[in-house]
Amino acid sequence: MTGDSAIAEVLLPLALEGPYSYRVPPGLWLEPGSYVAVPLGPRQVIGVVWGLAPRAATEKTLRDVAAVFDMPPLSETHRKFVDWLAAYYLEPPGNVLRMVLRAPGAFEGPREQLAWRATGEPPKRLTPQRARVMEIAAQGFAMRAGELAEAAGVGISVIKALARDGALEAVALPAMRPFAAPDLLAGGYALNKDQQAAAEALRAVIAQRQHKVMLIDGVTGSGKTEVYFEAMAATLAAGGQALLLLPEIALTQPFLARVERRFGVEPAAWHSDLRPRERERVWRGVADGSARIVVGARSALFLPWKSLKLIVVDEEHDAAYKQDDGVPYHARDMAVLYGSIGRFPVVLSSATPSLETLVNVDRGRYGVVRLKDRHGRPELPEIGLIDMKRANPESSAWISPPLAAAVRETLANGDQALLFLNRRGYAPLTLCRACGHRLECPQCAAALVEHRFRRQLMCHHCGHLEAMPRACPACHTEGRLVPVGPGVERLAEEAMERFPDARLAILSSDLARGSLLRDAIRGVEEGETNLVIGTQLVAKGHHFPHLTLVGVVDADLALESADPRGAERTWAMLAQVAGRAGRGQKPGRALVQTYLPDHPLMRALKSGDRESYLNQEKAIRENAGLPPYGRLAAVIVSGAEGPEVERFARHLGLAAPLADGITVLGPAAAPIAMVRGRHRWRFLVKARREANLQAFLRLWLGPVKPKGSLALQIDVDPYSFL
Ligand code: ADP
Ligand code: ZN
Repeated sequence: MTGDSAIAEVLLPLALEGPYSYRVPPGLWLEPGSYVAVPLGPRQVIGVVWGLAPRAATEKTLRDVAAVFDMPPLSETHRKFVDWLAAYYLEPPGNVLRMVLRAPGAFEGPREQLAWRATGEPPKRLTPQRARVMEIAAQGFAMRAGELAEAAGVGISVIKALARDGALEAVALPAMRPFAAPDLLAGGYALNKDQQAAAEALRAVIAQRQHKVMLIDGVTGSGKTEVYFEAMAATLAAGGQALLLLPEIALTQPFLARVERRFGVEPAAWHSDLRPRERERVWRGVADGSARIVVGARSALFLPWKSLKLIVVDEEHDAAYKQDDGVPYHARDMAVLYGSIGRFPVVLSSATPSLETLVNVDRGRYGVVRLKDRHGRPELPEIGLIDMKRANPESSAWISPPLAAAVRETLANGDQALLFLNRRGYAPLTLCRACGHRLECPQCAAALVEHRFRRQLMCHHCGHLEAMPRACPACHTEGRLVPVGPGVERLAEEAMERFPDARLAILSSDLARGSLLRDAIRGVEEGETNLVIGTQLVAKGHHFPHLTLVGVVDADLALESADPRGAERTWAMLAQVAGRAGRGQKPGRALVQTYLPDHPLMRALKSGDRESYLNQEKAIRENAGLPPYGRLAAVIVSGAEGPEVERFARHLGLAAPLADGITVLGPAAAPIAMVRGRHRWRFLVKARREANLQAFLRLWLGPVKPKGSLALQIDVDPYSFL
């Protein structure tokens, strides 16, 4: 493919406009997709060959490609995916490529096959840096010097010094565990009639070997998982790789174990707290095709797939598929894009499909299979509303008398109850009774949230932490700061008082992360705890077989938001959390506390009439030209100085071109007018479906180069309106 007079166009994982050109030195064999090392200024960077060209006669002198890595090239499909995704979200393609290359270990040569572990000898001298290294080494895993240094936030020299001291010793890294081939007959259930029909329909689509999106629309507990396992089995049987995407939080050990039972092999798992070496193992296995089944969070899309032939997106409605930082992308939408480029089917699964997906079904663009009943038990949990205007709890309590009685009864029966409140921390607001001052983040225009278990105040926008002051910072009166409103911790405090004998667990992202959280979830699954207090963390995809009562403490929270999907999300969350009840032997019920029992959403929830509610919601969106009937993009301008940001935003507004079917709303100060000390202004761009939103944004914003502290951020199909 290349002679000694060729030029390689190499895409680098950097925010550059496009690939850079390098000379291919004689004797170096490259093809499109090859991973190469190239010089960039004084550094060497790893990139991917995006194209090869014969050398033009007038070419200026180019630097040479330094080396090529001995691994399978990045497929053409994957390269197209990177380009298309970048164009869709108006990102430099290099920023997308950076997400593909996120396994640095995979590019380290054989020289790095040494790892370091603690000898048990204490270091002769203990600095804070050394202590951090020893703390990590004490966990017992041998790690490469670079990984250990990075994990401890120190330089390599610290590791070397500790080794000289005798506190660390080198061991050879064991060879990476290979991925075993799946056994397709290992552990399927005998499917019931509806499941069989659904599985058959999916297998027929897989057999077509074409792009087609299929929705599995089935109530919670109907066996959607079993059905998409059949689609995965068919794909594996045909020799392809299968990716199962889950919202990060649903990626639990019991779920992975379930995949393992079905396919007889441990699937490759991909999520944010994978150890570096496992990250490398999965990345390599995906690249060489030996990892056949990957169960992963949204970023698994970017793994260097060799022959991906099916993506399943479980809980496809989940807003966690939208990434807001870095490259803002929606993993469900990008899964569909990948399938269309790679010409393979994509299966979406949910008990509460998104309006986007349902409208695509209505239009005939997506196919659908339906599962109407729970497996083994026809009844869904009964949903009751508690009208909080009548069932007034005592003034300092959040659990109404009827809900408290139901919890008592459940616990007395030896069953498990869940109290759901989608608010982290102890109280969302702290006020001074003496002067009315509210405690705010110094960096953000937002209230600080009390986290009593950690004895701190926290900003949920920037992570700022401070101790709870004794006196009001404004009027200096002591002892008059009071919490306002409930968070899960405050709810837990009330529950401990009311149900002193309960074995209680709080599931909230602040209190447990990573493996701790997975352990807590397992405790609930196995019935070690009988009263669970949880945020939306528990609403997603879990199977808690002992749970028979779900109490929703405040159903009205998200209804008040500025998000056009606020009502839909409330609906999905309530239906999902209610659906956690009664998945085992005993039937379940849900009690929903609301001040709005006559709201159409609450009525539909009680009567189980999803269609009429969603039809109403569709009509509202269609009239307003909101997604999925129209498209949105948010443009956020930020900077250090408020007046400068405003001026810049107003200028930008005046520069907006006129275009048919596209309206620019704003600029206006963002609802959260400052985050991390940066002032924020927003535009909302509304486009009719047939208008070319990306071309418009490129025309308007392409030439804009913000100066100084100013920055411009584009969010296509936004899910955050703050
Ligand atoms: P969903 O994904 O729709 O919420 P699951 O696939 O998790 O539903 O199924 C709910 C429960 O019912 C699981 O414990 C699952 O193992 C069980 N189940 C589903 N289908 C069958 C079947 N055909 N035979 C036996 N058990 C089944
Ligand atoms: Zn803050």
